[in-house]
Amino acid sequence: MSACTDGPAFGKTKETARIVIIGAGASGIAAATRLLEQGFKNVQLFEAEDRIGGRINTVPFADSFVDLGAQWCHGEEGNVVYEKVKDLDVLDRTGDFAGYFVRSNKEILSDDQAKALMEFKDNFEMKPDWEGSVGDAITESYWKEVGQQLVPNDRSVAKEALDSLKRHICSEDACDHVFELSPRSYLNFATSGGDQNLSWRRKGYWKFLSLLLNANEDQPGDQGDLKGHVQLNKRIAEINWSGDGELTLRCWNGQIVSADHVICTVSLGVLKKKHQKLFVPALPAAKVRSIEGLGLGTVNKFLLEFEEQPMPENMRGVAFLWLEEDLKELRGGKFFWLESISTVHRVDRQPRLLEGWIIGAHARYMETLSEERVLEGLQWLFRKFLKFSVPHPKSFLRSQWHSNPNFRGSYSFYPTYADELRTGRTDLGSPLVHVSGRPRVQFAGEASSRNHFSTVHGATESGWREADRLNEFYKGRAEN
Ligand SMILES: Cc1cc2nc3c(=O)[nH]c(=O)nc-3n(C[C@H](O)[C@H](O)[C@H](O)COP(=O)(O)OP(=O)(O)OC[C@H]3O[C@@H](n4cnc5c(N)ncnc54)[C@H](O)[C@@H]3O)c2cc1C
Repeated sequence: MSACTDGPAFGKTKETARIVIIGAGASGIAAATRLLEQGFKNVQLFEAEDRIGGRINTVPFADSFVDLGAQWCHGEEGNVVYEKVKDLDVLDRTGDFAGYFVRSNKEILSDDQAKALMEFKDNFEMKPDWEGSVGDAITESYWKEVGQQLVPNDRSVAKEALDSLKRHICSEDACDHVFELSPRSYLNFATSGGDQNLSWRRKGYWKFLSLLLNANEDQPGDQGDLKGHVQLNKRIAEINWSGDGELTLRCWNGQIVSADHVICTVSLGVLKKKHQKLFVPALPAAKVRSIEGLGLGTVNKFLLEFEEQPMPENMRGVAFLWLEEDLKELRGGKFFWLESISTVHRVDRQPRLLEGWIIGAHARYMETLSEERVLEGLQWLFRKFLKFSVPHPKSFLRSQWHSNPNFRGSYSFYPTYADELRTGRTDLGSPLVHVSGRPRVQFAGEASSRNHFSTVHGATESGWREADRLNEFYKGRAEN
């Protein structure tokens, strides 16, 4: 539609249009830096936390930095993060999890068995016409392809291994269990070819943001080119988009801000919890369906620093296999939440560290425990599974993504519920526009990415997508 129909009342140009971006994570930063490059002048980011970065949270730990959120660049082909850094020699190839599968009686599966399990996971392909969940599909192919052969005369080991693989998949897809995962999680995700776990050489994922921002790579939080454009500790409590003119935003502290365009990048978790209060008037039904239908799961990390690496030289990591009787006992005791720890492994270029992952409801429960209680549990787990002793760590960190009201989870997934509601990411990402086509409220963020959801490259692309949408709109106006 021609921009002329917008009428003289909207006389804004790139120089005068007021753009407010809510959230300074990867998508907000990508949108803001691109808008400034494109010649927009009045770009303001409102960030609820006291730091920029969002689910990229690189913090000093042990001898350098670690990531409490995004850690690896997943793939090389068609990945905008990789594209940005490929000539800079800043990434290490680390490959996939190459650890040991250890049973709760301390037995270790053979190398061949471990290889068969990882090959099965990596080569699993979702059939496009599959009716059911990913969990159903995985379970069926597992018993056909690898389960029976794994330990031919002991089906219980194969069952334990399948449960461990399922936890691994949940940690990649951020679902509570694989039976709630829709086939679209696989079919709609465009995997970028190449190494799936490229690591940032002790600089953490901040390295990527520092390049987007032109900021100091050793100072996570440095605002670089966005200095003067970011307001920290400013949680937006209400976006009033009534009428067809300017929008009014209210901060939690009562501050009122006017804008011509708003780009909302808050996580799907925040939208789920807050959309009814955040948007006045209420969002259209299709948008609400997408917010309710899509899922945001919880995946948390533990980081432990030791005087010396406790794992033997040849061990890169451990996946946990629970014997049925041990699991029964575990579930009845205070350490029940340990069941959902998927792996513990070494950290690239940080030889004295171990990192662990926990998923789902137990990850959310873990967030409510004190650090001492969490450590007590982890040490019990190490004693239960490992033949060597793991000393008390020198220092310890864990993430709490779910209980933080500015995130309410880790990353998004397609539940089968979204299929039932016939909704998806296009509905989530589509803007609220004036009849003239002028974007008023836009939506970016990893969950709005159609084929790179749950990643930093997807979040970055979504920020660029919305910046380009505005740029196109103003280009159209200039031409009229
Ligand atoms: C544990 C973990 C591990 C991960 N590992 C990887 C990985 O290895 N590789 C990878 O590619 N991706 C990974 N991810 C996913 C990746 O971190 C995210 O996809 C990406 O960082 C999301 O960016 P975003 O801009 O969409 O959202 P966010 O980073 O969540 O940014 C949104 C911002 O909005 C702010 N906000 C919220 N509410 C308000 C409000 N009302 N007002 C103002 N501000 C508000 C938040 O504080 C936040 O800063 C991981 C995530 C987690 C949690």
